[in-house]
Amino acid sequence: MRIVLLGPPGAGKGTQGKILAEKFGVPHVATGDIIREHIAKRTEFGCKVEAAIAAGNFASDEDINYWVSRRLSEPDALSGYILDGFPRVLTQAKAFRGTVDAVFWLDLPELSAMERIAGRWVCPQCSTVYHLTHCAPRITGVCDWDSVHLVKRPEDALDKMRFRLDYNRSQMWPVAEHYAALTALVIIDAEGAAEVVTERILHALLATPLAKTDF
Ligand code: ADP
Repeated sequence: MRIVLLGPPGAGKGTQGKILAEKFGVPHVATGDIIREHIAKRTEFGCKVEAAIAAGNFASDEDINYWVSRRLSEPDALSGYILDGFPRVLTQAKAFRGTVDAVFWLDLPELSAMERIAGRWVCPQCSTVYHLTHCAPRITGVCDWDSVHLVKRPEDALDKMRFRLDYNRSQMWPVAEHYAALTALVIIDAEGAAEVVTERILHALLATPLAKTDF
């Protein structure tokens, strides 16, 4: 199963990506996780991207395309993958070489996205994503899996949210349109509990014949 998850920040791409990856036994490939891992390990790419983010920029398409294609060529991704946060912009979508069975746009009104981002806490060790009230850890502020203290992502600061939502609308929606024109794009209502959203995705997978498109 090769799935691309698109949608605004906070829509639940990471949450659904993890659930679907476990369900289908394929890796959840999130560009955010790749970048954070490089930053934590102080690799050349990590230092470069950290400086770019600090200056209000993003990782270059060239670097992201390289690291995603490298990740997708690893043995565990041969049987499939759930792509989360990639392609983020049209240039990345056009450069992407791979197979896609289904593309989902997780649709969430802006106010709900803001509320979800405001309540998001993540484990810096295993990247599990929690929400203060909707998906709270068993012990407040502590990861269920490795007991590490949860942190806020720097980009989740309230003053950056407006820019991220606007950027997403102008940059990621054209990616959705690109896939809608070339293969099948399914829009999923991302309101409601995570399990309910997963059910909608699984139902759509059953209802829609897989597009299986090679790019
Ligand atoms: P994205 O990867 O699209 O930015 P996340 O999966 O990180 O979104 O989800 C954003 C926040 O909303 C997280 O705190 C997550 O725990 C929470 N969340 C995800 N899905 C749901 C849902 N269906 N209902 C309520 N909260 C959710």
